[in-house]
Formats: sequence, structure tokens, C-alpha cells
Amino acid sequence: MKLTHYCTKCGSEDVLLVEAKSMGYGSGNFIPMGLSIWSAVPVDRYVCATCGFAEEWIPLRHLKKLKDKYSD
Ligand SMILES: [Zn+2]
Repeated sequence: MKLTHYCTKCGSEDVLLVEAKSMGYGSGNFIPMGLSIWSAVPVDRYVCATCGFAEEWIPLRHLKKLKDKYSD
């Protein structure tokens, strides 16, 4: 949906971007990377306002950090 700008499930063009925001530890949408929220990787959500389907995307600039920590 990030790439198509319409819902890949129902075809609706009513797609919302819900960006990850740090609103204190434990809130928002993040992948933990260490002890603090500031080192966590944000996860943006694309949500279909028609059927409720949601996709999650990591901003490209954070992918290397994620790969370094979670790959074998
Ligand atoms: Zn939909």
C-alpha cells in the first residue's frame, strides 16, 4: 500500500499513513534495539480505512541497523 497507494486487499484508495511516533516508552510502534526508545527502530503503518487491513514498513534509513542486530 506504501507502493500502490490503494488497499491491496479491497482496492480502496482510502489509505492512511500512521507514522511511528515516540510518545514515551511502550507506546507508538517500534522494534526494540536496546534499552531506550531512542535507539528503537520506528515502524510506519499504512491502514486501509475501508476494510481495516494494515501494512507495516520500516523506513529505509533504519534497515541496516535492524539487519546488524537481528541477522545471524
Ligand atoms: Zn482495504
